[in-house]
Amino acid sequence: MERFDDDALVLSTLDYGETDRLVTLLTREHGKLTAFAAGARKSKRRFAGALEPFMRLRVHLVETRGSTVRLDSADIVAGYYSAREDLSLIARALYAVELCRELTRDHEPQPELFALLEDYLVRLDAKEAGPTSLLAFELSALAHAGLMPRFDTCALCGGEPGERPRFDQAHGGAVCEPCGGRAREAVAVPVALLTGLRAIQEGQRLPLPPDLRARARGLLNVFISHHLGRRLKSVDFMAQVGLD
Ligand SMILES: [Zn+2]
Repeated sequence: MERFDDDALVLSTLDYGETDRLVTLLTREHGKLTAFAAGARKSKRRFAGALEPFMRLRVHLVETRGSTVRLDSADIVAGYYSAREDLSLIARALYAVELCRELTRDHEPQPELFALLEDYLVRLDAKEAGPTSLLAFELSALAHAGLMPRFDTCALCGGEPGERPRFDQAHGGAVCEPCGGRAREAVAVPVALLTGLRAIQEGQRLPLPPDLRARARGLLNVFISHHLGRRLKSVDFMAQVGLD
């Protein structure tokens, strides 16, 4: 059985049986893995607080039969403890890790997504990441997963979205008015929203005004749940703590 070390970010955890814990990790070199941590809840010392969502770890893993790996040891590299003291930062971090978990398949290396998530958590912990940073993070994560929404051209005819654009999650983004008539689920959106999201997608950190930000949040929620086939759980938590 092969043993290996890797850098890892904890995406989620699930208690298993009386004493064990299943930990979903995004590793730098091996992609998303589900690791079995035997006795994780019995021995406080063995994993010492490491097996919690959005911890950055150095892990020692052992391949087993099947798709699960065994977690032999985990050292905390960064706990992002400042982010853990603030409910709104916790909500954003949980959203970011859940999105990454749902956008990736097991055992497919995603070093760029790992770097993106790590960078986002570092900035969140430094209190340098507000709502626009979250939108930028999501748009980049979606692009890595091959699900980049289009805001600059009509997703159906390839033309300009025009003065009365719509957004159609099923077809992957903005649609022009004539095409919008054929897309049943398309909703009218302000031109400024599409140009604002396009600018964020291009890497400009231009904050959207609050009303457009709320619309952007709504569009991305609908887009992401359409493509994943379900709504992310942490979206509700973000709404509960008053975040868009
Ligand atoms: Zn069109």
